[in-house]
Amino acid sequence: MVVPYKHEPFTDFLVEENKHAFEAGLKVVHSYLNHDYDLVIGGERVATKDKIISINPANKEEIIGSVSKATREHAEKAMQIADETFKSWRKSKPEMRADILFRAAAIVRRRKHEFSALLVKEAGKPWNEADADTAEAIDFMEYYGRQMLSLKDGIPVESRQIEYNRFNYIPLGVGIVISPWNFAFAIMAGMTSAAFVSGNTVLLKPASTTPVVAAKFIEVLEEAGLPPGVVNYVPGSGAEVGDYLVDHPRTRFISFTGSREVGVRIYERAAKVHEGQIWLKRVIAEMGGKDTIVVDSSADLELAAQSIVASAFGFSGQKCSACSRAVILEDVYDRVLTRVVEITKNLTVGNTKDSTIYMGPVIDQAAYEKILSYIEIGKVEGRLVAGGNGDNSQGFFIEPTIFADVSENARIMKEEIFGPVVAFCKARDFDHAIDIANNTEYGLTGAVLTNNRSHIEKAREDFHVGNLYFNRGCTGAIVGYQPFGGFNMSGTDSKAGGPDYLLLHMQAKTTSEML
Ligand code: NAD
Repeated sequence: MVVPYKHEPFTDFLVEENKHAFEAGLKVVHSYLNHDYDLVIGGERVATKDKIISINPANKEEIIGSVSKATREHAEKAMQIADETFKSWRKSKPEMRADILFRAAAIVRRRKHEFSALLVKEAGKPWNEADADTAEAIDFMEYYGRQMLSLKDGIPVESRQIEYNRFNYIPLGVGIVISPWNFAFAIMAGMTSAAFVSGNTVLLKPASTTPVVAAKFIEVLEEAGLPPGVVNYVPGSGAEVGDYLVDHPRTRFISFTGSREVGVRIYERAAKVHEGQIWLKRVIAEMGGKDTIVVDSSADLELAAQSIVASAFGFSGQKCSACSRAVILEDVYDRVLTRVVEITKNLTVGNTKDSTIYMGPVIDQAAYEKILSYIEIGKVEGRLVAGGNGDNSQGFFIEPTIFADVSENARIMKEEIFGPVVAFCKARDFDHAIDIANNTEYGLTGAVLTNNRSHIEKAREDFHVGNLYFNRGCTGAIVGYQPFGGFNMSGTDSKAGGPDYLLLHMQAKTTSEML
């Protein structure tokens, strides 16, 4: 029996001892900065001439590592190996697969601050955000290991006296895991772990801005005893390797988390049946968000202001769940706005060298430019009341930015910006607030701050998002506690960290034996 699942606690960096432990983690990461990382195909290291250079977004001069870049030939080789390995891996004992995850979680837990320190360097995360990313990676491994154990004997079905019927879940085949950079460890490790613990083999293509943490995760899986060929590491260009693998006739499923644009492209391409393909591909696609916090007249306004700031500016707004729209009832609008601006003006922005910096950089030059262009749009569509400036002389820093008095149909109210920018919009009454909240093509997260019970019930029914929170912010879902995934153009609502997630990586087989 395994002990029941509980989420990994977060580290309190006000405790001196924890600070020192994190600094020791940073030292370990410094000792391997600028190393080379090879592709891993069938357990073999393959070095390529062409490299992805991973840099620190807070300090462009600092190279985190040089990572080999797979071509189509490498992707093809990896596919053949994963396909071959599937023949044995699909028959491996679920208990053994779960044990590998439990061991991997234990290894990461022992090196927790090192992994978080790597996220500080490679993704520009503040310490607390990096700590939460690592904790979530551990949680996914612990949770999916247990989920596999609960599914291994199938689900009971009826049998007549003359027969014995069984209903079991079997794996699908080779899965392509394509992960984003913003939860560079947790989402990458979660998607990969779910795919292989349920008996599939995997080709992992991490985001090109954060490939080193994925290489380190591969090392952990090897140390935990994962056989060669089960998870193959093939970082590379989305357009080249991504399209090739999505189109491949031996690809059985694609597990994607990233932008709406790329998710839709994958979904469309995966629908086409290629020569030699004998199945319809499954697509798990978790995409963007345009997430809203609604503040009702009856709300605790201080809690509302704190929730908006934390959800809008934590990790520089680079969460799919980030609050990018604050919809406030008109009688409390001015008070909430004034308080949010006040708190925001005291936030610290800079290189997250220590635990006191609230906000680090955005991920790269392209993100920096995109966010600043939305800030220009915001200046036309609203009233700039905080922030608005960027500085990319050393890293990609953008101030936490607030636009007031934005109309409900403005572009900055509709389009995902994925940066530290929040638009404030006034609502006439609670029904109007929920209408505004629903007027995007996304449907990922949302929060309502209210002390009105009937408004809670109204939002529960009508606020159309996959993750809805009351009297708190809209970020920070915990594996196994708040299964995560969105509606509409936010994706296929796969609910990562939830009880159904592994089933998306499996198919059910009915067997019936006459007695
Ligand atoms: P992205 O779509 O640019 O990239 C995601 C991954 O897709 C990367 O590994 C990238 O290399 C790959 N890719 C790019 N083109 C491809 C192609 N043609 N074929 C196959 N793969 C391709 O997203 P990103 O910038 O890494 O992440 C940010 C986005 O992810 C935001 O929109 C955010 O909202 C979303 N996100 C969603 C969730 C969720 O759970 N819904 C979680 C995290 C991030």
